[in-house]
Amino acid sequence: MARAYNFNAGPAAIPLEVLQQAAEQFVDYQGAGMSIMEMSHRSALFEGVNNEAQALLKELIGIPDNYQVLFLQGGASTQFAMLPMNLLKAGRPAAYVKTGAWADKAMKEAQLIGETVVAASTESDKYMRMPSLSEIVVPSDASYLHLTSNETIGGVQFHEFPDTGDIPLIADMSSDILSRPIDVSKFGVIYAGAQKNLGPSGVTVVIIRDDLVEQSPKDIPAMFRYNTHAKASSLYNTPPSFSVYMVGLVLNWIKGMGGVGQLEQYNRDKTKLIYDAIDQSGGFYRGAAQTGSRSFMNITFRLGSEELEKLFVKQSEAEGFVGLKGHRDVGGLRASTYNAVPLESCQALAQFMADFQKRNG
Ligand SMILES: *Cc1c(COP(=O)(O)O)cnc(C)c1O
Repeated sequence: MARAYNFNAGPAAIPLEVLQQAAEQFVDYQGAGMSIMEMSHRSALFEGVNNEAQALLKELIGIPDNYQVLFLQGGASTQFAMLPMNLLKAGRPAAYVKTGAWADKAMKEAQLIGETVVAASTESDKYMRMPSLSEIVVPSDASYLHLTSNETIGGVQFHEFPDTGDIPLIADMSSDILSRPIDVSKFGVIYAGAQKNLGPSGVTVVIIRDDLVEQSPKDIPAMFRYNTHAKASSLYNTPPSFSVYMVGLVLNWIKGMGGVGQLEQYNRDKTKLIYDAIDQSGGFYRGAAQTGSRSFMNITFRLGSEELEKLFVKQSEAEGFVGLKGHRDVGGLRASTYNAVPLESCQALAQFMADFQKRNG
């Protein structure tokens, strides 16, 4: 079997071991005579899967006891709306850090719910950097501060987080959750769609502090209230059971890799291969993001002309690489090197980049 060198931005690579394990259990999960997809979400077997995935996430990230882990549906995009529906208070603006396409979308949704302010923006730098912490200004009466820890499209990442005191810090970590250790106690809410670093699409992880769960207003529909799902351990209605099961397998794989600290080093080793190929190309390749804000998950880069970029994509595809075309909004090239992308794929890409330069430099 030939596996592609998969640099897709999302849905993205899943560890081969996980796929093989799921394949083994696909038709008959633990002797139940049926697959995970066919059993009741109220069954003991599925409750075990649900509880184990939650417990593993708590263990791997180091989530304190006063936080809940929720498995919801609708993607991170639904969280853009659900968050202000639950936590944006009348007369108290929600502050947003504008760092690219995803942060922008999150803020636009909040504007439909209530008042927002821009706490910092890097738009004038074409979103090619993250703001420094001193640039972020939060009104003292803000309902919360929202940021995007990694901008998947621009390829910029926060390498430190602001201290917001009593104002809840909210982070969309869709494209870098579990890629490095974080101090959860700095955050009020962390959310992430699963399809980049956690498994397949269909489930969205929300990590939320207890006091914020309790703030869910009673006048919004049940499905949109955090406390509905918290009270029911994410089994209020039928969950995306197969996706939750897959996330559990991925979390076990991360544990087997030695945990998030080990993964961070692995991710740094992987991205170094590609950033070095860019930086040592004598200007043939140019990193799109400013050096200090470079992402360890999405590497964005350019070539001298769009024709050359098209040729790069075409020839890379012929050699088994997938997903290297940049997002349509920004163009250029992008290699997404999420947790499950093996070092070997990055070695192969660095080699391809050197060969391509020899042919076209
Ligand atoms: C992919 C992505 C989203 C959108 O996720 P969906 O699950 O498709 O709604 C939001 N934010 C970031 C940072 C992303 O990378």
